[in-house]
Parts: sequence; structure tokens; C-alpha cells
Amino acid sequence: MGVWKKIWAKAQQIMFMLLVLVYFSFYDALLQKTLFTVFLFLIRFLLFYYTLGHDPYVALPNGLELILQVWSSMAFFTLMGIICGFFSSNIETADKQLVLYNQRLREQASTDPLTGLWNRRGMRTFLTENMEQHPQRIFSIGMGDIDFFKRINDRYGHDCGDAVLEWLTGRMRETLGEKSQLCRWGGEEFLVYFPQMNGDESARILFDFLEELKCNPFIWREEKIQVAMTFGVEEYDFCSELDALIKQADEKLYAGKENGRNQVVF
Ligand code: GH3
Ligand code: MG
Ligand code: MG
Repeated sequence: MGVWKKIWAKAQQIMFMLLVLVYFSFYDALLQKTLFTVFLFLIRFLLFYYTLGHDPYVALPNGLELILQVWSSMAFFTLMGIICGFFSSNIETADKQLVLYNQRLREQASTDPLTGLWNRRGMRTFLTENMEQHPQRIFSIGMGDIDFFKRINDRYGHDCGDAVLEWLTGRMRETLGEKSQLCRWGGEEFLVYFPQMNGDESARILFDFLEELKCNPFIWREEKIQVAMTFGVEEYDFCSELDALIKQADEKLYAGKENGRNQVVF
């Protein structure tokens, strides 16, 4: 093989590397990538055509040809390894970050930022999946609303209102957390899910919680603020839709409000 043939052999390998580089480096440029591929193919074809019609100027000794061949293959594989290793590790890192980012987004979409509890979306997803997976498993829900919360806001300010929501979340976590799943349904409303409990059992737990609230007022700038809630409880009847259960609990909650507040209605 002669000098041109050697150059031709090298050029082929450089072209493969260029091809890999171009495909890894540019996003959303399919047309450019395709044109570049055609361009490289044409160069390769022309070189091939040229070498077919030309005899070598200088014939290389067999030993040197072998060394050149080995060296060229080693250089090609090393460079290809570096290029592919670099880009594939970049892709892997980006992939992992994307998975984490998606997970965080999903968590954020289901979490209430003030209290850290599930929001309505998180609880709805959970309950829907739970009812689909265990259609014959008993549970009950309690829909709770803070009594006269607007007065707290009006009298002590919105900051105080926010602090009450956080404080109440802490109290609920402590008292109900182990037996139930909590959610901030919206505004000053909370939905409590009691797995494997009938309405009587969960109403009892909520009643005890209200009793505990009576003995533990919220302290705001050294002033005691009595916080109370009203709850409506509904038990799963193994056939109702989730929305119907929530509506029933809501209606009981408002019956409790009408009936003087600070109570559990089942
Ligand atoms: P009721 O006993 O009938 O439930 O009376 P209420 O005053 O609690 O109910 P109302 O619906 O009149 O007022 C609810 C208030 O809750 C009004 C709204 O500004 C306040 N609120 C809702 N979300 C937040 C919040 O995230 N932070 C604060 N500080 N206030 C909130
Ligand atoms: Mg209220
Ligand atoms: Mg309300």
C-alpha cells in the first residue's frame, strides 16, 4: 500500500470520529446532521474512487505497514473511547438529574408549601389509588375546618394566621399522625384519612384531638389564642365514589358549623 492509500485509510477513521462528534454535539439539528453525513460519505467515496485509479508513489516495507496499521487502530480506538466515554457520561449525568428533578417536581406538586402536608392533589391521588387497590378495605375520612379563622387573621394579622396553620399541623401530626394521613385540603381546611377505621373510631380520635386543643392554646407574642375546629366524618361504604364521600363529610362539617362549631359530626 502506498502513501495515498495510507492517507485514505486514516481519513476514513477521522471521518467516523467526526460523524460521532457531530451526532453527539448538536441537539435538534437533524437536517444538519443528515447533510453532514452525506457530505462525509461523498468525501469517502471520492477518496476511494481516487485510490482505485492511482498506483502508490512509494511502496512501504511490510514491517512498517504493520506498525502503521497497529498504531492507527490504537489511536482510533483510544480517541473513539474518549469521545464516546465523555459524551455518554454527560448523557448519564443529565439523565440522573432529570429523574431527580422530575421526582422533586412531583413531590412539590403534591405538597403544601406552608405546612409541608400533602395538598388536595396529593391526597386525591393517594385515596383514588388506595380505593382502586383495596376496594374491600374499610377506611374513614374527617374533613376539618378551623373555626372563626378569619377573626384570627383580622385581629392578629396574616402572619399570625399562617403561624396558626403551621402550629395546628404540628399538633395534628403529634396526635393523629401515627393513625392517619393528613392533608391541607385548602385554605384552613384539613382532610384526615383514617386507614382501616370505621367512622366511630375516627370520630373518637378527632374528638380527643379537639379536647386536647382546648387545653393547649396557641401562643402569639405572649398572648393566648384559643384555636378550635369542626370536623365532619364519613365512613367508606364499599361502593361510593371518593367525591361522594368527601361531599358527605363536607356536609356534616357544615352541619357542625351551623350547630355551634368546635365539634365532630358523624
Ligand atoms: P368558620 O368558622 O365559619 O369556618 O369561619 P372562618 O372565619 O374560619 O371562615 P371564613 O371562610 O370566613 O374565613 C376563612 C379565612 O381563612 C379567610 C382566609 O383569608 C383565611 N385563609 C385561608 N388560607 C389562609 C392562609 O394560608 N393563611 C392565612 N393567614 N389565612 C388564610
Ligand atoms: Mg373556618
Ligand atoms: Mg373554610
